[in-house]
Amino acid sequence: MSRRLTGKVVIATHNAGKLAEMRTLLAPFGIQAVSAGELGLPEPDETGTMFSENAAIKARAATEATGLPAFADDSGLCVDGLDGAPGIFSARWAGPTKDFAGAMARIFAELDRRGVQDRRAHFVSALVLAWPDGHTELFEGRVFGELVEARGTAGFGYDPIFRPDGHDRTFGEMTAEEKHGVDWQRGLGLSHRARAFVDLSRACLVPGA
Ligand code: IMP
Repeated sequence: MSRRLTGKVVIATHNAGKLAEMRTLLAPFGIQAVSAGELGLPEPDETGTMFSENAAIKARAATEATGLPAFADDSGLCVDGLDGAPGIFSARWAGPTKDFAGAMARIFAELDRRGVQDRRAHFVSALVLAWPDGHTELFEGRVFGELVEARGTAGFGYDPIFRPDGHDRTFGEMTAEEKHGVDWQRGLGLSHRARAFVDLSRACLVPGA
């Protein structure tokens, strides 16, 4: 049985793009969200080997530091022709200067170097909600698609080169609403983060609270 969340929550991220997306997703639930970055919390080392482990490390660090429930998302882009890379190292491929143009170019360079024609890829989001007493909930979302030449300036990270299946535009060409594609009635989402979030919200949040 999942535990319900009400009141105040910490969003355990220092990534402005993710924070904006999480706030948009939380808006209908009347939850007051403050970020780890705004609270000046240190960023824990992401020492896990899976998205879910790293999300749990970030959520637990934030809940232990504040005494409040905390959300964390660990996410990334997995490219089939690169055996799942950059995967949990998606942020690190962009380096300390967050050079995503360079990281996107590296993906195509690696595919060319390996002589791989396959352009299949998927985004993964592992979302963990942790409470101060040690209780945690995990939800995972995936969105599958193809890598294309970079198009669009919306979103963040690898959005410009990812075209989700069933769509003509890349995430970089979509508004935030289109990228998330949330349909609360039918319990659906498009982006990996929205899919994980819809599942989390059905289990742990109270609409219109
Ligand atoms: P972390 O979860 O903060 O370790 O980093 C995830 C990294 O994966 C981000 O910095 C982006 O590079 C990439 N990523 C995750 N989700 C998305 C997305 O929705 N669009 C584009 N890039 C993403």
